[in-house]
Amino acid sequence: MVRAALAAAASADPRDVPVGAVVFDADGRELARAANAREAFGDPTAHAEVLALRRAAQVHGDGWRLEGATLAVTLEPCTMCAGALVLARVERLLFGAWEPKTGAVGSLWDVVRDRRLNHRPQVRGGILEDECAALLDAFFHGRR
Ligand SMILES: [Zn+2]
Repeated sequence: MVRAALAAAASADPRDVPVGAVVFDADGRELARAANAREAFGDPTAHAEVLALRRAAQVHGDGWRLEGATLAVTLEPCTMCAGALVLARVERLLFGAWEPKTGAVGSLWDVVRDRRLNHRPQVRGGILEDECAALLDAFFHGRR
């Protein structure tokens, strides 16, 4: 699933930081995928996770409630995306690289596992971490 997110990241606009996200339903079928498109859309909220969750909700039988769904992302989500996946009732989050500067799923904050929330997704980070980090390194290295 994280490998699919890597493929989504690779499809990002060349101006955008290559982060990819894919949503799968409870049976493991892909519902939607997206790449970060903040530059391409000129939209500060156009992170891969938010775009993928929106698209998934449009094709999912239960509307906006993505119960049983898995969100796979190449990079640890930020506060906005962590909040969005809790609101979407995503069951499980899988991500690749850790993001010590802005990560909100264990690095800087832990938004999704706050005990005060009544919905807390399962989380696994560091999956294909090296490959996910290498994609980002190549992007930032290429810009310098
Ligand atoms: Zn985000």
